[in-house]
Amino acid sequence: MKYHLVTLGCAKNTVDSMRLEAALRGGRHLAVDAPEQADLLLVNTCGFIDAAKDESIGVVRELDANRRPGQQIVVVGCLTQIAEDEVRRAVPGIDATFGAEQWDAIAASVGAASETYDIPISTLPVLGQPSAYLKISDGCDRPCTFCIIPTIKGRMHSGPARNLIAEARMYAAAGAKELVLVAQDSTAYGEDEGDRDGLAVLLEELSEAVPEVPWIRLMYAYPGKVTPRLAESMATLPNVVPYLDMPLQHGSDSVLRRMKRPTLAKARRSIEIMRAAVPDVVLRTTFIVGFPGETEAEFRQLLRFMEEQEFDRVGAFTYSPQPGTPAAEMPGQVAEAVKQERYGRVMELAQQISLASNRSMTGREVDVLIESREPATSASGDPVSVGRTYRDAPEVDGMAFVKGVHAMGSIVRARVDGALPYDLLCSPVDAPVRA
Ligand code: SF4
Repeated sequence: MKYHLVTLGCAKNTVDSMRLEAALRGGRHLAVDAPEQADLLLVNTCGFIDAAKDESIGVVRELDANRRPGQQIVVVGCLTQIAEDEVRRAVPGIDATFGAEQWDAIAASVGAASETYDIPISTLPVLGQPSAYLKISDGCDRPCTFCIIPTIKGRMHSGPARNLIAEARMYAAAGAKELVLVAQDSTAYGEDEGDRDGLAVLLEELSEAVPEVPWIRLMYAYPGKVTPRLAESMATLPNVVPYLDMPLQHGSDSVLRRMKRPTLAKARRSIEIMRAAVPDVVLRTTFIVGFPGETEAEFRQLLRFMEEQEFDRVGAFTYSPQPGTPAAEMPGQVAEAVKQERYGRVMELAQQISLASNRSMTGREVDVLIESREPATSASGDPVSVGRTYRDAPEVDGMAFVKGVHAMGSIVRARVDGALPYDLLCSPVDAPVRA
């Protein structure tokens, strides 16, 4: 059977889709790019915020409207987990729905293929990019009042280290230059086994298992859960990049209390531990603006906290109520116009800080991992390859533009000539150092 899979939502959903595809490949089904060539249309949905929900339903509707007789349509993932009826009402022609984490059941439902396909599994094009996401755990035990994830995904469960190492080796063999560790809460890794330093141990094991992968990156740390051993691992392991993403969600303790998130003191302690052990660490965080009851004074505390900590990278979201979460029922829901205005102010400040951080790189030499298949063209008409330094995570952070034509997946030594709020402008200083 040939299938066409559309993945919506976050990086973690991308990893889920890779697992689903592994199960489908196990059944010897073949992926196709064009929906019209497929026997099976699969959509891995996201239900995290209203916009994502609308997008998911829109994609399913469009595939349904254009499908030919005999083509099946199966909808899976977070949205069907929490709102199956709604999805079925919106698109009555759907053949089947599955919730999250039912990859083997989905693969089994479409049966074994009648034909044998020779599917390459050890070439870079399988990844489609030089970076691969490694989902180290799933589910979440935290009580954040705005978040539906614990309801969707259930309790946190860590992936067995031996499976994660095998997966990492597979990506390394496929040519991956970067492994991005993701989870709902990466610092909880191992806690379900009673191990407080499970993440540090996993980093050590991965670093040793795939020394040929130059960048191992950690996303989604929980404030207050950065242990000295974790910081030490990041400082000493040669292929773990000094980059930490720690979503803080707000910079006011009263808002954090309503969110049931850790206090600023805990966040500051984690940042201190990390900066003391890894002086050149790049810190990324995310904030939610317009949480119920957020006053102008609380919002200004958030801006002051951003100035105090000078996060290199900041992502922001406007609060969007999730049915079934405590925050959706809280009094003092903030008007949309106020949320948008505060979002603009956060991003303006974030840009200034990011620009200063990028400017501090001017004149320095960096390694750039090239991600573009084809070079872009600069304003002067010259070719420019697009990539990233370790200071930017894929999909969420900025880019580095390197003059010249460089192969996707190569790492180019380059000098930073100029800085933009999010991106770096670079010139190569010699031949690719690792191809
Ligand atoms: S830690 Fe993250 S996934 Fe877990 S409840 Fe909080 S926001 Fe949701």
